[in-house]
Amino acid sequence: MKKLEDYVTSIPDFPEAGIVFRDVTTILEDPDGLSMAVDGIRQMLKGVEYDSVIGPESRGFIFGVPVAYAEHKGFIPVRKKGKLPREVLSADYELEYGKATVEIHKDSIKPGQKVVIIDDLIATGGTIEAIIKLVEELGGEVVKICFIMELAGLNGRDRLTGYDVEAMISYE
Ligand code: IMP
Repeated sequence: MKKLEDYVTSIPDFPEAGIVFRDVTTILEDPDGLSMAVDGIRQMLKGVEYDSVIGPESRGFIFGVPVAYAEHKGFIPVRKKGKLPREVLSADYELEYGKATVEIHKDSIKPGQKVVIIDDLIATGGTIEAIIKLVEELGGEVVKICFIMELAGLNGRDRLTGYDVEAMISYE
């Protein structure tokens, strides 16, 4: 029986020399890989009480929506700057080279609302840290953060101290 990591393709020197890119599209392309990934996240959420799933553009949408649907929760998108049509709250964060901005609809989270964040991969943790800031500024509470993969050598978890963080596959 194949394991989830068997469906990940590792691509050396992408997008630049020295980086090994972990490609989730080969999980998605395979029906067993896809159900293993979605069911694995649902398993992580067993016993967790929450109101909504948050997923960042774009791979957080891919894994977040099927989990939200299966668990009968709502899905709240976090998008790159300028994409969401209603009033937004924005957070800037540092990338390896330059800056990025993530946005959320201001009215998508009510004070006290419990959310889980789902994304494909944690690298430095900068994206998720910015999303946590958005949720908390709106009065929401992040009760769990789920990833398919973590690049453990980049120590992204250090930025998420105090939060319940889980990944299905860990790469050094
Ligand atoms: P972070 O903010 O540094 O944790 O970067 C996380 C984001 O970068 C995630 O949304 C990933 O989609 C993307 N990312 C970084 N490295 C990889 C990789 O090796 N494979 C797939 N996505 C990656």
